[in-house]
Amino acid sequence: MPLTVQQRRDSVGLTDGLLLIDGDWRPGRAGASWEHRHPATGEVIGRFAIADATDVDDAVRAARRGFDEGGWPRSRAGERIRVLRRCADALREHADELRALQALDNGVPLSFAPVYATSVEVAADAFDHHAGWVDKVGGQTLPPYQGGDHLAMTFREPVGVVAAVLPWNAPFLLFAQKVAPALAAGCTVVVKPSEHATFTVLRIVQLLRDAGVPDGALHVVTGPGEPTGDALISHPLVDKVSFTGSRAVGRRIIEASAGTMKRVSLELGGKSPALVFPDAPDVGLAGMTAMGMVTLGLSGQACVAHTRALVHRDVYDQFLEAAKLMAGMITYGDPFDPAVLSSPLITERQLDRVLGHIEGGVEAGARLVTGGNRLDGDLGAGNFVAPTIFADVDNTMPIAQEEIFGPVLAVVPFTDEDEAVRLANDSDYGLGAGIYTADARRAFRVAQRLRAGTVGINGFQLEPHLPFGGFKQSGLGREGGQAAFEAYTELKTVMMPLTEELM
Ligand code: NAD
Repeated sequence: MPLTVQQRRDSVGLTDGLLLIDGDWRPGRAGASWEHRHPATGEVIGRFAIADATDVDDAVRAARRGFDEGGWPRSRAGERIRVLRRCADALREHADELRALQALDNGVPLSFAPVYATSVEVAADAFDHHAGWVDKVGGQTLPPYQGGDHLAMTFREPVGVVAAVLPWNAPFLLFAQKVAPALAAGCTVVVKPSEHATFTVLRIVQLLRDAGVPDGALHVVTGPGEPTGDALISHPLVDKVSFTGSRAVGRRIIEASAGTMKRVSLELGGKSPALVFPDAPDVGLAGMTAMGMVTLGLSGQACVAHTRALVHRDVYDQFLEAAKLMAGMITYGDPFDPAVLSSPLITERQLDRVLGHIEGGVEAGARLVTGGNRLDGDLGAGNFVAPTIFADVDNTMPIAQEEIFGPVLAVVPFTDEDEAVRLANDSDYGLGAGIYTADARRAFRVAQRLRAGTVGINGFQLEPHLPFGGFKQSGLGREGGQAAFEAYTELKTVMMPLTEELM
């Protein structure tokens, strides 16, 4: 029987999505709506408003008023901390409901929902983490540099109106890593969820309002990149755009920010390498982990997945065998079935793109070890691609250079450490990397030479308090940690002469 999620949808009780502007949930002025098709079945399971430029303007002006005149930017640290901690609690209390909504949005199976980036708990932790900065990040008092007697002080003030534009693959975490520091800093926010993960975000926003985030502080516009996203990133009253998504849209945001010099934070894509040395503590585990990262849960649709395995020739076959074993263990189907371990690709367009990359890999001469095909039968209406491994890949091939965003591992052989580092850094991207070795000195030596934002040694884990972001074309800025909080502030210097002579 072909897969269906209609009953799941009915039991969750999904209702049509609206915009949130100045405390009112309302449809778009033009009445347009988006039909959400489930990626595992192709069924339409819900609708939500498409905000056009007029709606976006309403939302940004409301956020502007909220910032210039409202209570949130002027609230005391203690109040902000209390509200943000209540937000964290609300997320934890509604975790089951949110996981079900995520499964209906982007097809991430419930079995994978406890795992970091797609978990509600990490998003809640991000709110707790950023609540902790509210009363700790301040300015400095500085001595006079030249003659005269004066005081100079610096203050951190909220950056203003923030546009938070989200991708679809990790809506809990990426919402929290933007909205929590923005609210903690005293900014007001207009959120635009991905059109492929909207219902999850709408529910989170309502939970935050119930937890005490006031009307002027948080607004939501829904819809696709055009017209909604584009109107938001180009709006002259937005002070900062915080974006996670593709490199192509990241470039567009840099262009759109030029007119009014908006502050910009970008978390973009990756082609992260896993470097497997012959002294790896467990080559089999490294193979399973690398393949697990590109297949489990999100089917490789994760920015930081190690999609390029650079493997020493002495352990190459052993690595491939283990990766293939993992490929055979991945199960697909109803995201609510606990036995299902992974998801479909998000859209038919993405499905075609991934299959095109696989075809290109074969044409370029890489060896297809397993997979490469779309799944059929009961899963034929969904966007499912079998776990795919390419061996004997040359690092210059497109399958080793481009972010495929699908369950495809490219395995590149190397002979010595210098070659491994050279291959790892031979990429436009620099988001993450993994090193597998039992030699601690080699581990740190290589970690220092890699041009990547987050390096895991014999393992990899995202945590909400650790700075995360990219070198090179993987982005600008970091999320998590003090630097991320400060990126939602402006630094102001104030000085005052203590004697009249200075005047
Ligand atoms: P995307 O760039 O297609 O879309 C991201 C968001 O931008 C969506 O909300 C979309 O509606 C919006 N958008 C699209 N066109 C726009 C335009 N012209 N103007 C304004 N907004 C526009 O990305 P996606 O498919 O949702 O997510 C996948 C990408 O995100 C991958 O490249 C992945 O690597 C990246 N990603 C990065 C991180 C990270 O932390 N570095 C995390 C998750 C995903």
